[in-house]
Amino acid sequence: MSDWPNNIARKSIVEFAAYSARGGATGALHLDANESPYAPPPVRGAQGYNRYPEQQPPALRQRLADLYGTNANQIMVGRGADEAIEVLIRTFCEAGQDKVLICSPTFGYYATCAQIQGAGIIDVPLNKNYQWDNEAIIKAASSAVNLKVIFLCTPNNPTGTIIEDHLVEQLCKQFPNILIAVDEAYEEFSSRPSYANKTEKLKNLVVMRTLSKAYALAGVRGGVAIADPRVIDLMLKVLPPYPIARPVEDAILAALSPAAMSTHAARLTEWLSERARMYKALQTSPFVAKVYPSQANFLLLDVKDDDALMRELSRRQVKIRDYRNTTGHMRISIGSPEENTIALEAFGVLVEAQRTERIGETHRKTKETDISVRVNLDDPKVVEIDTGIGFYDHMLEALAKHSGIGLVLTCKGDLEIDAHHTVEDCALALGTAMKQALGDKAGIGRFGFVMPMDETQARVAVDLSGRPAMTFKGVFPTDHVGDFPAEMCPHVFESLAQTLGAAIQIEVEGENTHHMIEASFKGVARALRPAFARSGTDIASTKGVI
Ligand SMILES: *Cc1c(COP(=O)(O)O)cnc(C)c1O
Repeated sequence: MSDWPNNIARKSIVEFAAYSARGGATGALHLDANESPYAPPPVRGAQGYNRYPEQQPPALRQRLADLYGTNANQIMVGRGADEAIEVLIRTFCEAGQDKVLICSPTFGYYATCAQIQGAGIIDVPLNKNYQWDNEAIIKAASSAVNLKVIFLCTPNNPTGTIIEDHLVEQLCKQFPNILIAVDEAYEEFSSRPSYANKTEKLKNLVVMRTLSKAYALAGVRGGVAIADPRVIDLMLKVLPPYPIARPVEDAILAALSPAAMSTHAARLTEWLSERARMYKALQTSPFVAKVYPSQANFLLLDVKDDDALMRELSRRQVKIRDYRNTTGHMRISIGSPEENTIALEAFGVLVEAQRTERIGETHRKTKETDISVRVNLDDPKVVEIDTGIGFYDHMLEALAKHSGIGLVLTCKGDLEIDAHHTVEDCALALGTAMKQALGDKAGIGRFGFVMPMDETQARVAVDLSGRPAMTFKGVFPTDHVGDFPAEMCPHVFESLAQTLGAAIQIEVEGENTHHMIEASFKGVARALRPAFARSGTDIASTKGVI
């Protein structure tokens, strides 16, 4: 069937030529699109704002293809997964004739788009455990006339359930002329691997992904459809000419920079542990009859005494999703630990006095380096360092371990020039993140430590005074340790002192450069440790927090 997927798409879409606003000629002199030759009045990063963007900005398309493990020509980037859903229906469903299949309760926008397009809706509801009724879906697909798209949302919104492994492949193979649209808006939160890379083999599989949920970009609007290039090319005929504004592309590329990915991973870990905490705690709520297990960043609830619950929620300004008029449920999103604790109080759950963790996050991107740092002063569990300089990783690891903090630090720097920018910028970013984590509790604290290490001794004093200062006394016998220039050692502490707002004094004597540097890092860490430590009275009682 060489005509596929044209034989299942709307005839009028196949027949018209794709809209193109650009002339056929190539060249750097753009006199083809009636743009302004002037840059707009100064806006940060406004280069290129006077020109139309490409319909599918190539750098963005490639980045998203890499993120989702597929090829750039299999990606349609749109304003959210919402737009991917809309365009899919508009490309394949002839008004007044074709149909889509949904499994309710599910994401409402499938039905909305179908209605706007004039497509029919076949509903094969989930069973009482909110699992898909595989047999009923197959039966409906076999008997339906002009069924074009089956929407499977997994993890499903609002139930949080996931489909059985074999269903997608089975449907794709059994119904080659029906598109199987798998909406993976919440895939990052689930234990099931994505279907994205299966689109290479299964030509009628379309996967939706979004940057709005796990990647914190809901306000930017970015999402994709991933499918066979022939399906994507048809959809691109329907997608409006310039859906991705340049600032949107910039914001997405920055948020998905290689260094930022470690921050996303660390956040996801916290997010999932909060989901587990909420799942457990809500079961003890007097307002909750049932909490459904979830593979997404929300929980579905059966509630009782709902008017009283609504009063408690609004008293604390907590908004949750109310489905009482349709499915009879409520849905609560998993927020930050502090937000969740407030929500639990509204649900009448006695929350143990909880130590709110002091976390600082910094992203720093310049021409030379792209750095992402996350410090947790109260949980030393996760220490992951990748600066590209082996010895520096080792030193920063020692700094984290000996000061008793969690540290995730990733840097992509211009190491082909030298180590200077990377070393200095990482220290600056680290100090900034530490200061942010300390918040306004950063009191004056003077601490010292003497660090012996074989023949070496480092004497260190640290004062979190808010006034940056650094002195370093010591002469290194060699100028490098591995690819780390010894002269950068004092620079690190100078940069750290500057952004942390600390006085750091170091005196180091020894005969081995490696030992001398390592003793300096460990000495500073040991002096920082009591400075970061919280006394018992700092434990935030959840009563009256915020
Ligand atoms: C949130 C959501 C979307 C929409 O994502 P955007 O990229 O923000 O448009 C799509 N599908 C489901 C199931 C969702 O919950």
